[in-house]
Amino acid sequence: MIKGLEGNFAILIDFDGTITKRDTNDLLVERYVDPSIRDLSQRDGGVNFMEYFGGLMSKVKITEEDYINFILNEIQLADGFYEFYLKARKLNIPLAVVSGGFENGIRPFLKKHGIEEVEILANRLKFDKDNLRIEFYHNKADCCDIGNCGNCKVLHYERYKKENDKVVFIGDGITDRAVASKADLVFAKDGLLRYCKANNLACIPWKDFDDISNILFGSKI
Ligand SMILES: [Mg+2]
Ligand SMILES: [Zn+2]
Repeated sequence: MIKGLEGNFAILIDFDGTITKRDTNDLLVERYVDPSIRDLSQRDGGVNFMEYFGGLMSKVKITEEDYINFILNEIQLADGFYEFYLKARKLNIPLAVVSGGFENGIRPFLKKHGIEEVEILANRLKFDKDNLRIEFYHNKADCCDIGNCGNCKVLHYERYKKENDKVVFIGDGITDRAVASKADLVFAKDGLLRYCKANNLACIPWKDFDDISNILFGSKI
C-alpha cells in the first residue's frame, strides 16, 4: 500500500482514454462529423463546454443500436484494467467510473469485459432515431474550472470524500483537471499530466493499469 493511503480509500476513474485506449467521443466525431466542425481542441478555449459538446454530438447521425455496436467493436480496454478491477474488488475498494461521455456505451462496454460491479457516473445520450441529444448528469453553474461541465467530477469527488478517508483519481484529459487539483492522490497521463506539471499539481504519471496496481495494491494482493 502506498504511503499516505492508510485507512479506506475509493477510486474514481475517468473512462475515455483512461479505461479505453482511445477516446470514444473523439473517434465517434472523427467517423461521423465533417472535419470543418469537429475540432475537439476547441474544448480548450473559452466556449461553454456543455453547449459546445451538445452541438457537436447533435451533428452525429447514428442510431442507439449502431452507437453501442460502434463502442463494442471499435474501442479497446486499457492494458491491465481488468486485473486492476479484480484486485480492487477483492480488497473491497469502492470504484466509480466518472465520465463526461455516455452511460449508453460505457455500461455495455464494461459488461462485455466482465466488469459490472462498478458505479457509473456519466451523461446519457437520448436517441430519436439517428438524432442525438445529451442529457447531462449535472447542471450546476461554474461547478469547476471549465464552467458548467455537465457531469462534474468535482461534485462526485466531494460525495466520495464524505464516505471515504481518501479518494484516488485516475485520468488523462480536460474534464479531469478540476478534480485532479482536489483528489488525495492523482494518476495522470497525456494532457492531464502536462496540465498537472504546468500547474505544480502533485501526480503520479502512468502508462497502463499494471503501473497503478503495483503502486496502489503493491504486494497486498
Ligand atoms: Mg479521458
Ligand atoms: Zn464541473
